[in-house]
Amino acid sequence: MPPRRRKPDPVPERTRALPPGGLLDWSGSEHFAQDALPCWHCGAPTHMRDDRGIPADKVCAERALAEIDQIVQAHAQALL
Ligand SMILES: [Zn+2]
Repeated sequence: MPPRRRKPDPVPERTRALPPGGLLDWSGSEHFAQDALPCWHCGAPTHMRDDRGIPADKVCAERALAEIDQIVQAHAQALL
């Protein structure tokens, strides 16, 4: 019997919005600002900034990117 092969991933890991492990690395100083502005996801005040400099909580950004990845994955599965 041939070895079982894993079904190919329709969305390669490198094209996903979230890095492997599902956590963003926002350890750089560019992700922190002195002034707290409303997170564009939830509206709560935050000192954090996303890669575009937009106020965003890290957990909110990770949740949003995970949702995008799920949607892309679902559409990719539908195309197979
Ligand atoms: Zn938020």
